[in-house]
Amino acid sequence: MSKAITADAIIIGGGVAGLSTAMQLAGRGAKVIVLERERIGNGSTGRAAGLLGQLRGNAEHTRMLMDGVEIVRELEKQAGVEIFVPTGSLRIAETPERAEEIAALVAMGKSIGFEIDHASADEVSRMLPYMRTDDLLDACYSPTDGHIQPAELVSAYLKIGKARGVEYRTHTPVVQILLDGDRVRGVRATDGEYHADVVVNAGGPWSYLNAELADAVLPTAAIGHYYLTTRPDPAHPVDRLSPAIRDRHLRLYTRPESGGLIVGIYDPEPELHDMRRLPVDFDMSRMKAARDSIQVAQLLDAANRRFPWIDGRTPMSITTGIMTFTPDARPFCGKMPDIDGLYHCSGFSGHGIVQSPTIGLIMSQLILDGESTYDCESIEADRYFDVPGYVNRVEIEEKCVRMAGNYYGGVERPRPVASGSR
Ligand SMILES: Cc1cc2nc3c(=O)[nH]c(=O)nc-3n(C[C@H](O)[C@H](O)[C@H](O)COP(=O)(O)OP(=O)(O)OC[C@H]3O[C@@H](n4cnc5c(N)ncnc54)[C@H](O)[C@@H]3O)c2cc1C
Repeated sequence: MSKAITADAIIIGGGVAGLSTAMQLAGRGAKVIVLERERIGNGSTGRAAGLLGQLRGNAEHTRMLMDGVEIVRELEKQAGVEIFVPTGSLRIAETPERAEEIAALVAMGKSIGFEIDHASADEVSRMLPYMRTDDLLDACYSPTDGHIQPAELVSAYLKIGKARGVEYRTHTPVVQILLDGDRVRGVRATDGEYHADVVVNAGGPWSYLNAELADAVLPTAAIGHYYLTTRPDPAHPVDRLSPAIRDRHLRLYTRPESGGLIVGIYDPEPELHDMRRLPVDFDMSRMKAARDSIQVAQLLDAANRRFPWIDGRTPMSITTGIMTFTPDARPFCGKMPDIDGLYHCSGFSGHGIVQSPTIGLIMSQLILDGESTYDCESIEADRYFDVPGYVNRVEIEEKCVRMAGNYYGGVERPRPVASGSR
């Protein structure tokens, strides 16, 4: 390619964040090109379990996820695919602290009109006969939760994006971000230059390296994650619509999958990956979990405590992948003050699939209108800009690893929202 190609916006990265943003921008008439290093959906997106729990520790994030389900419903109609599987979800408590957390979540959920209520151990046992329930002190049930099928979500973003004129170029790594003083001018990829006034860094675990291409600092880190998927077992049938479960004491989440059960863990000692050391054509779908690793041992031990029929001999597959964490487990969406036109959209800390429908909308508003209809304060890209302790890579990684390790371990303290303040 000799002559530079021009567009209104260049998106670096064909994962859910980049695809959703591209689709929304094109829906408002922008000419958008997505540049993907490997294949579409080959990063974290292709490894995700897709659990969608809408209730978060604060009302604004809960609202973003509730609206995300509406957007997904619309995508399903437009693309003709089933993306959302409405299983409902349960959060369970086996300690007094966790029971208090559930009481606070139920109160907060109800205060913003979210469907949620307490569930007794007997009720939980009836819904999930394959789970140990004799130690439960409390639980809560959210009937409108479920999971998103990541491959179907990607296919809907692509189908609608293509219809709106988005151009997708795969096997095209971006190697430089072009600047004109403090303004972005475009990017250089392996096949030549692409010029645009807007560049979006949606590079998932690679996004901190992409920021460095513009001498910018993005305080994210690449963190390993594991889940197992049992094969269907007639002795422990798992219905397709069995509720998802979150057991934060054991750091576990689960959902049904093809007659078996996915059980994932937010490891207390997560692995840190150095994305710079991976080959340029690194294929995340080929990552293999070492069965004798400490992470797999921890996953199996925790799974066995909640589901005593799962142990090292149970027929299962183990999936591992890399996700992007930030120091506060909230994403970075928007610009930094020093480079105009360079937007970041990364750091979804294990929730990028379910956040992507609303995040794409938010990004398109920030880029085209300069502001969003959502309260974005907690996800602004510049919230650590130049803050001591958030500039040096070693310090950033320490903070992100600590957050990932405490992610399910920490107890949330949500507060009900006063009426009228939503
Ligand atoms: C094992 C596992 C389980 C998970 N489970 C869930 C879950 O249950 N629910 C949930 O919501 N989320 C889950 N996640 C997290 C979710 O997968 C991510 O948050 C989401 O996929 C992030 O999307 P993304 O677009 O930001 O990143 P990615 O999907 O990683 O996409 C980034 C893309 O950018 C490309 N790229 C990077 N740099 C360049 C460059 N310089 N040039 C060109 N292309 C580039 C990469 O190749 C990649 O395809 C899970 C993740 C893992 C690993």
